[in-house]
Amino acid sequence: MRVNVVTMFPEWFDGPLSISIVARAIEDGALVVELVDLREHGLGRHRQLDDSPFGGGPGMVMMIEPLAAALEPLKDTHRVLFTPSGEPMSQETLDRWAETNEVTFVSGRYEGVDQRVIDNFIDEEVSLGDYVLAGGEVAAAAAIEGIARLLPGVVGNPESTEKESFRDGLLEEPVYTRPADFEGWTVPEVLLSGDHGRIEEWRSQQRVERTRQRRPDLLRNRKDPDT
Ligand code: SAM
Repeated sequence: MRVNVVTMFPEWFDGPLSISIVARAIEDGALVVELVDLREHGLGRHRQLDDSPFGGGPGMVMMIEPLAAALEPLKDTHRVLFTPSGEPMSQETLDRWAETNEVTFVSGRYEGVDQRVIDNFIDEEVSLGDYVLAGGEVAAAAAIEGIARLLPGVVGNPESTEKESFRDGLLEEPVYTRPADFEGWTVPEVLLSGDHGRIEEWRSQQRVERTRQRRPDLLRNRKDPDT
């Protein structure tokens, strides 16, 4: 799979692309990340990318010309703009992108992007959450990592990406490992019982209970509320 990232700061990705699962996915050829340096399409000697907003107001707005030049060659790909005004990114979003061959992420900066870019060059607007960051690079990196672990062969045991939070509309149950007793803090007895039926029942109850307490919205939206 190929991910293009349009950004003013390609060097921002040096870390996120060189560590752990993402680095492995790139090394194995499962993932190709192409960083498109927006500055190369900047206007004039100073490679200008932003200008003040029509109608006045604080901050600067990303201009259409550099973004059009960067996005026109990518018009056959699914082009996503990261913005707080977008639909929240979810596991479903990542599943959908991971099933495509190519996706383009656009990272905004300043006060945002000239609306005409969105109207003419963007297929989908996505938000990382209900808060405002300084740029879309964090969102692009989060999406790349989320996608990388869904690509075939990247995560050793495919069950790990099938049985985790959000897969069936529930949060994951608590997990434990050795030692069974750390300074008097023990693990639930059922997990040491060897009784796989009881263990599965306990895990399932924990998933539902945890979701009820922390994310009742997930339970309400669940397709199969009986399990
Ligand atoms: N003025 C904008 C607003 O009120 O929605 C915020 C602009 S923010 C300072 C600059 C850029 O960071 C945005 O254009 C977007 O690309 C990115 N960004 C900030 N918060 C984000 C979020 N929660 N999800 C996705 N992208 C975000």
